[in-house]
Amino acid sequence: MRPTKIVCVGWNYRSHIKELKSKLPEEPTIFFKPVSCLIGNGDEIIIPKGVTNVQHEVELALIYGKECKHVSESDAMGYISHVAVFNDVSARDLQWKARDEGNTWDLAKGMDTFGPMSEPIPKESAGDLQNLELELTVNDEVRQKGNTANMIFTLPWLVSYVSRYITMCEGDILITGTPEGVSEIRPGDTVVARIQNIGTLTNKVRSE
Ligand code: MG
Repeated sequence: MRPTKIVCVGWNYRSHIKELKSKLPEEPTIFFKPVSCLIGNGDEIIIPKGVTNVQHEVELALIYGKECKHVSESDAMGYISHVAVFNDVSARDLQWKARDEGNTWDLAKGMDTFGPMSEPIPKESAGDLQNLELELTVNDEVRQKGNTANMIFTLPWLVSYVSRYITMCEGDILITGTPEGVSEIRPGDTVVARIQNIGTLTNKVRSE
């Protein structure tokens, strides 16, 4: 089912916050990516002309199986039917420029092809979602390594939190933040994101 939206969580691993010199949050930063940015395993990440310092962010994606609004933390995971590997591709120079100027970073996060996602699998096949190894390599070199156990805001807490404000529809996607090690990807690179028990997401990078 085609999602109506991709809701994203920023700053959800302590190590990534340290790396980006941001403050430890009391509440998560929530932003959106448009569904037009979605691509699949094997598709190309395309860097538009003039866009510099595009970076990868491996993330666990939760996919909703039914409409979700005002749910408690204890009921939250019952609304998630599938999980997938996601790469929250980000035009970092543009994102920081926007942040410094007090503007939104929608464009930096929302460009076409900036949302690679693996084929979703049933949540039950993935085991304990709060204890999964994540890894991302660029040209076979490990850049990111983490574990979902190191999230600041847990998955049930995030699903419940988002449901206070936003109705999530069947098929909608929640991406849950990235661990440390984000770095630039360039035309010609092969980016492979993996999450234990869930799968592998491979995308080559090219310029427009
Ligand atoms: Mg992200």
